[in-house]
Amino acid sequence: MVGAFYQPRVVVCDLDTLSTLPPREFSAGLAEVIKYGPIADMAFLEWIEKNLAGLVARDPVLLAHAVRRSCEIKAAVVGVDERESGLRAILNFGHTFGHAIEAGLGYGKWLHGEAVACGMVMASHLSQRLRLVDAAFVERLTRIIRDAKLPVLAPALGAQRFLELMRLDKKAEAGEIRFIVIDRPGSASMRPAPDALVREVIEHCSATG
Ligand SMILES: [Zn+2]
Repeated sequence: MVGAFYQPRVVVCDLDTLSTLPPREFSAGLAEVIKYGPIADMAFLEWIEKNLAGLVARDPVLLAHAVRRSCEIKAAVVGVDERESGLRAILNFGHTFGHAIEAGLGYGKWLHGEAVACGMVMASHLSQRLRLVDAAFVERLTRIIRDAKLPVLAPALGAQRFLELMRLDKKAEAGEIRFIVIDRPGSASMRPAPDALVREVIEHCSATG
């Protein structure tokens, strides 16, 4: 999360840090803010969409709201998780594909938020192929991510390598990759997906695919 960390019942958000970040790192931070829309709050996504130019220009009032709302949603998800286990996994939306990009390129080549941004595009395509969301939703999220100056096209690692990297990820259980998918706009869950569908998504979303 942008300039923020979570501890039980204490959320600290440092807005001064945000204003001094280099542009690439700032956009990478925005990725984890955008994430909260599709997984939990479409009204927030709509607000981000409407105010994206101002957010990218680091308008302090807009940033304060973006960070506050992100912290609120994160706290709510983690709070629910204390009673009903598993929900906090949705905070990893975009991270299964994203971690594969980071590991495949070598850590540090893409910033974490950049890999997550592209991973969210890929996970939304997977959600569409699972018939959970429509093409308009995928296009909308992709446009927001692109307008936040984040990558929407994956590096050409090859589908096979991508799948191998995702199987090695610590969240894969007995080689079964589990993805955070959008069940419907504003709601997410974790589930496995057929390799063939994942392969299609990787090929569709890769630079030379
Ligand atoms: Zn992350």
